Amino acid sequence: MATPITTKRKLQYQGYGEESPSVWVRETFGWAKIYDRAAQSILTKATGFINAYDFTLNPYHGCQYGCSYCYAAAFSPNRQMREDWGNWVIVKNNATEILEKELQRWAKKQGDLSPSIYMSSVTDPYQPLESKQRLTRQLLEVMLPYRPILVIQTRSPLIARDIDVLQRFKYLRINMSLPTGSEGVRRDFEPRSPSIRARLNALRKIKQEIDPNKGYVPKLSVTITPLLPTFPEDTRRFIEQLTVADRVVIQEFHESSARSPIASTRPDALALKKKYAWWYDNEQERYQQFKAQLNSQLQGVEVKEGKEGFGYE
Ligand code: SF4
Repeated sequence: MATPITTKRKLQYQGYGEESPSVWVRETFGWAKIYDRAAQSILTKATGFINAYDFTLNPYHGCQYGCSYCYAAAFSPNRQMREDWGNWVIVKNNATEILEKELQRWAKKQGDLSPSIYMSSVTDPYQPLESKQRLTRQLLEVMLPYRPILVIQTRSPLIARDIDVLQRFKYLRINMSLPTGSEGVRRDFEPRSPSIRARLNALRKIKQEIDPNKGYVPKLSVTITPLLPTFPEDTRRFIEQLTVADRVVIQEFHESSARSPIASTRPDALALKKKYAWWYDNEQERYQQFKAQLNSQLQGVEVKEGKEGFGYE
């Protein structure tokens, strides 16, 4: 039987640490070691910048994209895995059963009130493994009868695979993460993530293929969070393409104070900030310029900043 994900016993993952492992690699998928674990719960009370939601939902622990600036690395099971962020994924292999039980409990207590769910806060629910695992898709199916207010945060075009399910949600916002309009910058900061073009194409596909006669039309956001450098020659074209969304959200790079998880877990991002000194030496000015350009170029698309952009409405 799989080991519960929250336990007082310190677990040893095969491939990390010197003691004999208690959790074994199930397979390798692409560049990542895949582990199976049973979770004790799947809906987590939402806190921090998404505290307006009832719950966060993370189908996986870990994320194959391994973005250089990812704060989620700080929540790795141990130091070795934190340093190897992007190269392991833990599948919550009982997630569908637990979600069903937790939603039943919600319905019993709250009656018809829709739970608001943010999926996901510390993983990408459509990372490459999902193409095979299909866990996120199964969780969507479980959620449907409970009519949740759902926000899906991803940077993966794979989300377009699930158009048939997505259009059955009455209250759905899809947030596509797209922190830069320059492909070279994307390759530097998040080399394993899908191209800018692939992400925009996925949003276009969703917009074109969702059939209002068969269901509901989701709200679409592009989240430029954190705003990474975008070369001046790419900016106009990038912003033009954002009209596929009804909302664009921007946010500055995370603070890198000594107490910030970013400072201690993702030195790669801090090194890259030095490479892009032309941007980061005047970060506040660049941010304000970009925001002004968004506001002047985008018609009919709302532009929001930080926390207020992450709500469903
Ligand atoms: S896709 Fe999101 S969760 Fe995954 S590594 Fe990048 S920032 Fe972190």
